[in-house]
Parts: sequence; structure tokens; C-alpha cells
Amino acid sequence: MCCGMAHTMQDRGPIVTRFAPSPNGRLHLGHALSAIIAHDLAKAGGGKFLLRIEDIDGPRSRLELADEFRRDLAWLGLEWDEMPAQSTRLASYTAAAEALRARGFIYPCICTRKAIEDAGARQGSDGLIYPGTCKRTPPDPLHPVAWRLDTERALAETGPLVWEDALAGPQVVDLSGLGDVVLVRKDLPASYHLAVTLDDAADGVTLVTRGADLFAASHVHRTLQALLSLPVPRWHHHPLLVDENGEKLAKRRGSPALAERRLAGEDGRMLAEQLRLQHLRLGT
Ligand code: GLU
Repeated sequence: MCCGMAHTMQDRGPIVTRFAPSPNGRLHLGHALSAIIAHDLAKAGGGKFLLRIEDIDGPRSRLELADEFRRDLAWLGLEWDEMPAQSTRLASYTAAAEALRARGFIYPCICTRKAIEDAGARQGSDGLIYPGTCKRTPPDPLHPVAWRLDTERALAETGPLVWEDALAGPQVVDLSGLGDVVLVRKDLPASYHLAVTLDDAADGVTLVTRGADLFAASHVHRTLQALLSLPVPRWHHHPLLVDENGEKLAKRRGSPALAERRLAGEDGRMLAEQLRLQHLRLGT
């Protein structure tokens, strides 16, 4: 049987899913849609909906935003069952990174963004693909380093892997769009990829619900699950809300924060209903 599916894919019991915002900016409509979809998927099957605060990014995380997120979700009429926080889990990230390091699946890297650009890196599905400079010439170990996934070694170890998206169907792991991503940052014990994979396992998440902009990341997360012998959930990458120009709604483009609308007295439950209808029109 290919890819370890039979013994690693989680049984289809009640769904445990999550909405996992980072408190480095206010929530906007796109976040609301994500939270609503995750909440409704969990509640429809008597499952659990978690609100996970992804707050390891020290200087960029603002603690008061976690409170704001709670108010925003309650205003939308969403109830969560648990509220784990990444900042309580730093030791587990360090232990996992150590295990990957000991088995040679990550390598140190000192390259700056500029050095990567100058090395002629090609564009991948989410930014530039690391051209492997520090893999070919290991840096001075005393220099502060980030640690990157050695995709070649990882895939040689895991063999072909698959994962399942509820909307897009079965996917064969393909790391070529992201390349040797950073797993341990110079300033933090884990990057997004490592932290989120460990958190989903620690939280017993059986369905990872998030926007389609993170679809490619799931290839990395599935690989990490195989390397670290973690349970394998299913995924549900939902289509993103777009503005009238077809552009992704994002806080940086001035989409109004949910908190502003809440404080202006708008009815949050009504807004949630409108988003549900809009989501149906997006075809999922
Ligand atoms: N914390 C991530 C974000 O705010 C989402 C992570 C995820 O859903 O996997 O974009």
C-alpha cells in the first residue's frame, strides 16, 4: 500500500478543527470567513472548534489582540471549545527541532533575503525557493543561524506521501513549490511550518481548516508529520474572499477590521450569515 495511508490517516470520528490567528494584526473579513467555516464544520458533526492563538512571534505579537479576537468571534456568534496558545509550547518545538537535527533533516543557514535574491533564486508558490547555498557550503556554526528542511533527504526518508483535502481531493506531496523552507528561525525555536504542525498534533486536530493561500504549505506539514511520526489529519482549504477587483482581502489593503465594525455597532451575527451565503456562492 502506497504512502502509509492506512495506518496514519485519522479515522473519521467527530471533527476537531481550529481557527489559528496570529496576534500581529487585527482580524478582517477573510479571517471571519475562515473562523465561521471551521466553526460550522466542527459543530455540524458534534465536533470541537478550537481558537488557537499563534503568538510565538515575540516582537510582532500583541497580547491585547488575543482578547480582541475573542470578542470578535463571540460577536460573530461563534463559540470555541478550547483556546490553546503557541507561547506555552516552545519546549516542544525545541525538542522536535533537535530530533530533526539529530537525524540530519535540517541544516543551518545564514543567508539573508538579499543573498537569496542575489543567488538568482526562482519564484515558488510562496516566495523565493531557497537555492541551497548553505547546504553546499555549511556556515560557521558560531554564527546565529536558521535551520532549513533538507527536502531531498526528507523525501528520501519518507518516500511518496499523500494527504487529503476535503475540497481538492487526494494530493501527492510535492515540495518543489516551496523548497527547503525554514523550520527554526534565527530568533525563534520554530517557524510557522514547524509550530503549526506540532500544534495541530498536540491539539488533536483531525481537520485543518484554513484558506487556500496556505494550500502549498500542507505539503511541508505532511512531510513533517511523517518525519516526526505525528498523526495525519485531513485538510479543508477554503476559497478566499476577494474584493471587487478579484484581489484577496487582506488587512494590508485596508479591509476594515472586524473590531472596528463591532465597535461601530454592526450586527456580527448578521455579518456571519452574509459571509456564509457568500461562501456558498464561492462554491464550497
Ligand atoms: N497563523 C496563521 C495565520 O494567521 C494561520 C495558520 C493556519 O491556519 O495554519 O495566517
